[in-house]
Amino acid sequence: MLYTQSQVNLHTHSFYCMHGSGTISEFVQQARAEGLKVLGFSEHAPLPDREYQKGNRIDYVDLPLYERDVLAQKDNPDIKVFLGAECDWLPEEAGFYRNELLGERGYDYLCCSIHHMEDTVTGKEKFLQYLTCMPASQIAEYVSLYTDALRSGMFLFGCHPDLFLAGHRAWDADAVFASRDIIQCALECNVPLEINDNGLRKKLIETPSGMRHPYPVEEFWEMACDMGVKIISNSDAHRPQDVGSHLRNSFEFARKLGISFAGWEIDDNHISCVSLH
Ligand SMILES: [Zn+2]
Ligand SMILES: [Zn+2]
Repeated sequence: MLYTQSQVNLHTHSFYCMHGSGTISEFVQQARAEGLKVLGFSEHAPLPDREYQKGNRIDYVDLPLYERDVLAQKDNPDIKVFLGAECDWLPEEAGFYRNELLGERGYDYLCCSIHHMEDTVTGKEKFLQYLTCMPASQIAEYVSLYTDALRSGMFLFGCHPDLFLAGHRAWDADAVFASRDIIQCALECNVPLEINDNGLRKKLIETPSGMRHPYPVEEFWEMACDMGVKIISNSDAHRPQDVGSHLRNSFEFARKLGISFAGWEIDDNHISCVSLH
């Protein structure tokens, strides 16, 4: 059955990720109240091969509980619920994502993102938004990781592809080329890119051309629209009351830029993104 973006949210975090709140059933209740027909849970996947950002993602030992809670919502008559995970692309975790999450554990879908990179001053991994300076070499590394993830073929969509522009704030030649490379790769791999509503709910940041949201960034999405990649949107809710926030903020953001969203072809155990124009 075909669903429009206004009926769907596939990017949701609960208390399980350690920085969100609300139970799985509270999110489902709220999603139904907002009129959503499809809700996907995408907890930040654990990184069993790496002691990295522990506490910022679901613990490996909690996966069975998370899966149990999501699967318990599958019988809901008026909303389709899917089990997913948001995966930070680290090549050494690719086997875990593919063989264990999609394979043995039977996740319905995975989505990909790059959240953290090394601070060139302190040498510590930092959330991209808090990097005060993102040199060209680091942008190149971001693009290489992000496009590797898109090419892996295991992700249903790419989350907040423009997150690097929270760390690199000027819309300069580096930003233009990096954006073009990511969008071109998504086009070639036929993977939709996400306008992420969580960025629109965050405080504005200072850039050389004035204040803006850390992401999504208008220039990136104008380019994405011109190049014809499939564009979708999710709330990236971390608490139940935000589960449908993209229907307001991101839809308004897209409307101003003349962007129309792709749709979703969905049955009980399969999700795919379809162009509506
Ligand atoms: Zn999160
Ligand atoms: Zn997320």
